[in-house]
Amino acid sequence: MIVYKFGGASVRSAEGIKNIVSIVSNVVDNLFIVVSAMGKTTNAMERVLDYFMQAKKDEALAQLADVEQFHREICNQLFVTEKKTDEILIPIFTEIKELIINGIGNDYDRWYDRLVSFGEIISTKIISNYLITQNIDNKWLDMRKLLITDSNFREANINMEQSRINLKKAVDFQQYTIYTGQGFIGANHKGDPTTLGREGSDYTAAVVGNLLDAQSVTIWKDVPGILNADPRIFSNTVLIPELTYADAVELAYSGAQIIHPKTIKPLENENIPLYVRPFYTPEQFGSVIKRQITHSIDIPVLILRVNQVLVSLRPRDFSFVLEDSLSHAFGVLNKHRIKVSLIQSSAVSISVCVDNTRYLPVALDELSNDYSVTYNYNLELLTIRGSNAQVEAETTANREILLSQHTRRIARFLMREKK
Ligand code: ASP
Ligand code: MG
Repeated sequence: MIVYKFGGASVRSAEGIKNIVSIVSNVVDNLFIVVSAMGKTTNAMERVLDYFMQAKKDEALAQLADVEQFHREICNQLFVTEKKTDEILIPIFTEIKELIINGIGNDYDRWYDRLVSFGEIISTKIISNYLITQNIDNKWLDMRKLLITDSNFREANINMEQSRINLKKAVDFQQYTIYTGQGFIGANHKGDPTTLGREGSDYTAAVVGNLLDAQSVTIWKDVPGILNADPRIFSNTVLIPELTYADAVELAYSGAQIIHPKTIKPLENENIPLYVRPFYTPEQFGSVIKRQITHSIDIPVLILRVNQVLVSLRPRDFSFVLEDSLSHAFGVLNKHRIKVSLIQSSAVSISVCVDNTRYLPVALDELSNDYSVTYNYNLELLTIRGSNAQVEAETTANREILLSQHTRRIARFLMREKK
């Protein structure tokens, strides 16, 4: 069996969903399809949630009505009758409305998963039904019943053993050759919905591949494959046809938007190749991530991560920065789910570069009990793999560099535009 994953950008329109049909009709293997929420639905559901948490129920319902309208317009282009659209959408949106009307927004993370997870429920219902109208028989699965996670809401960890048992029971390729399930969502053992972290659908695809012993996992994306840089930021980009798992982890961790960083482990563990292929030109090969490659990457790879914060911590009692304070400081950051993308330490201070998330102020506040804390917002972190002086000069021109690091293969610059 193989796994195909279609992301939000691919399924943001009726045209995209029709394109899935042309891709899937060419598949001869047994297939598990993983789908994200359509377009910017997850962001829209986050707005619904924010209103709900502030007890602004009318605003939450109005925002939800926009989400419904967006999906209705897509359905109108896919299904011949309005009746079919109603059959799909009304039960789901009725359930969400009831949750909003009757619920009390007391726990942000838990409500996040309860409400935002519907984005994927809606998209998979629409796509599964549309495939059936196109004579592609498939079975819709509710991953909130199959992928069992802990209760770390918004960034839940999957219980692989339990999920394997569930999924193997639910998937029988003698009965259906195609199954359709949601990316990004699962549930804890009590059945409370959970999510796996933003952009987590890639991770689901990898986990499903691992649990069902897939021959390969393919992520269909609106890019030609994995490029050596983001074409929206850097010019003259080149396709990288082959990467090792280690390359991919390194790039994803540095902030390359290719795949979710957690995606690689479940694949590496079972030696399953991951293809990243162009959704609109499926005849092209794209890129493959696997254990052994024949051509190593011989061009510089550039990754720019924006909205970074440089935080410097100096122990208030003038103790040296040793293992104790390191593990304490990282414990605090970890507790508040702050992702650290670079570390530098000296005798009396630790500096970390972190993502700017909603929990950062609380974390900094807690750290200020033991450290004097200084920080700079709005920085860019540039990672160059296979760096050379010329690329560095070009990419850091007009930038003020606050911190730089060089290892044998990698150069990193924390920087901002010169004033
Ligand atoms: N829909 C989720 C998100 O936008 C998961 C995903 O797209 O992978 O974060
Ligand atoms: Mg998405």
